[in-house]
Amino acid sequence: MSGKTPLVRVSCEFFPTSTDEGAEKLDGVRQALSVLDCEYFSVTYGAGGSTRERTLQTVRRILDEQSTKVMPHLTCVAAKRSNIESILDIYQEWGVTQLMALRGDMPSGMYQAGDLHNARELVSLVRERWGETAKIYVAAYPEIHPRSKTPEDDLRHFKDKVDAGANEAVTQYFYNVDAFLRFRDDATRIGVDIPIVPGVMPITNYKQLARFSDMCGAQIPRWIRKRLEAYQDNKQDLRAFGAEVVATMCARLIDEGVDALHFYSMNREDAVLAVAQELGWVGQ
Ligand SMILES: Cc1cc2nc3c(=O)[nH]c(=O)nc-3n(C[C@H](O)[C@H](O)[C@H](O)COP(=O)(O)OP(=O)(O)OC[C@H]3O[C@@H](n4cnc5c(N)ncnc54)[C@H](O)[C@@H]3O)c2cc1C
Repeated sequence: MSGKTPLVRVSCEFFPTSTDEGAEKLDGVRQALSVLDCEYFSVTYGAGGSTRERTLQTVRRILDEQSTKVMPHLTCVAAKRSNIESILDIYQEWGVTQLMALRGDMPSGMYQAGDLHNARELVSLVRERWGETAKIYVAAYPEIHPRSKTPEDDLRHFKDKVDAGANEAVTQYFYNVDAFLRFRDDATRIGVDIPIVPGVMPITNYKQLARFSDMCGAQIPRWIRKRLEAYQDNKQDLRAFGAEVVATMCARLIDEGVDALHFYSMNREDAVLAVAQELGWVGQ
């Protein structure tokens, strides 16, 4: 594949694999995405520690092959401080210097809140344990966190994480650029000066996307939803439309001064590369 290298920093998210076969497949995905010269690959962490071992294994595997290009996620909900510290120590020993600090959502059936109450407390802990050189990422919600009392509350809590030492934020995915721009302006207005990187979800499957979006509070605009519904039985047209919509959104974000994009890859390269092709970053 040829094309011009993205003019913005690009990163991709993976979820941890559970089998050797899955791990090998993910190696292939990572290789295919190498045309984008990704700044890092992030690996999600199941709140409550449900993916602890798998996340560690996936992180280790990326580290073994790509040295520093890994950014593990860590959640603190329902976790003992000592468990969080032990994971931080392992990563530190492995030479990991960047991490996404999250609260996470209480898994169903778990009732112990854990020793840390929110992402801000986890940011403080990582900073305390890893020192000033660590790069700490946090989550941000342009369309407002689903459990927030008010938008102002949410913004204030976002700033708390930044004040505690976060270096960069990655947003929940969205398809409404105005919501992102408004959030970025509001954050700047209250003194947030770290990069806020849009999280980008490529569109491949309408039902799955609708389900995720309901859970995480990301709105699918009516004009997109109606078209995706109409394409449900035509995978190829749905993907082509999805790639065009998402690429148009990315192009507008870049025009608006965004210097990095974070793709939710869902452990596949095809949909991310389809967007990259639309943007002219890689050849057909
Ligand atoms: C980029 C990204 C990556 C993610 N990766 C994962 C992952 O790997 N694993 C996973 O399980 N989940 C992940 N999530 C989902 C995330 O865990 C949930 O959205 C969770 O509900 C909030 O986590 P947070 O870190 O944003 O929490 P916080 O920043 O702590 O905020 C959570 C909520 O509490 C409110 N709040 C914060 N502080 C206070 C306070 N002091 N008093 C009252 N209210 C407060 C906030 O306004 C917000 O409504 C990710 C989300 C994003 C956007």
